[in-house]
Amino acid sequence: MQANLLVLGGTTEASALARALATRGVRATFSYAGRVETPRPQPIPHRVGGFGGVAGLARYLVEHNISHVVDATHPFAAQMSWNAHHACRDTGVPLVALTRPPWKAAEGDDWCHVPDVEAAVAALEGEPKTVMLALGRLHMEAFAAQPQHHYVLRLVDAPKTPPALPRYQVVVARGPFNVADDTALFRAHGVELVVCKNAGGAGAEAKLHAARDLGLPVVMIDRPQLPQRDIAESVAAVFDWLDQH
Ligand code: NAP
Repeated sequence: MQANLLVLGGTTEASALARALATRGVRATFSYAGRVETPRPQPIPHRVGGFGGVAGLARYLVEHNISHVVDATHPFAAQMSWNAHHACRDTGVPLVALTRPPWKAAEGDDWCHVPDVEAAVAALEGEPKTVMLALGRLHMEAFAAQPQHHYVLRLVDAPKTPPALPRYQVVVARGPFNVADDTALFRAHGVELVVCKNAGGAGAEAKLHAARDLGLPVVMIDRPQLPQRDIAESVAAVFDWLDQH
């Protein structure tokens, strides 16, 4: 049977996989959640929007004769990963996650680990500071509970409605980022503290190097619980997994 992959995307790694699949002529569809206004163009066919939970995804897999699913979503897209786990189990479609190991603190880092966004908000109790929120638009409203801070928001799209934060500045930018630019950004805005998710990978790591170089503390939101599944930590490892399945 000819392979017909579904790639659950939204990450740099997913785009790298799509390029490799196109180069090798492997049949595959790239799936976007539809959160970003102008998603990165892909060299393979794509679809946009939710499937409708586990049942909707299971139906999609059957109706489109999907042979394998690669979950290349962000490590914080836990709902999608659990849905993929259940839908693949229910339909017998093999599943692999293309993911990256979490970042680990190195010498010189000053990280405070928290389990979720609510705990990150609670960790900001105290004196007013300039806080870099590198979290994406979905979570920034929660920080209205700590209105004393000035927030620097790095977002892929400019927000359509102003965030419910008393003092903020939006920086519209799409990764990958580099250390020199992130250091310059933190200096220019007088950033005193960074809040981020432990995404892992190279594309967003620059902010951690910049924080280390400038001696800034980091509130690090640890990863949510994800299902047990086969893991590939590189595009090459996905092809090895495909050979075995
Ligand atoms: P989520 O909470 O895990 O997913 C919520 C719902 O969105 C899912 O149940 C599914 O809807 C739909 N969905 C998510 N990813 C999808 C995909 N690739 N294709 C089709 N539908 C998808 O996800 P999230 O945290 O909102 O993230 C949304 C997307 O942004 C993901 O694709 C992720 O890779 C990307 N992203 C997320 C983060 C982050 O920090 N969370 C960062 C960078 C990029 P149905 O139940 O209707 O199928």
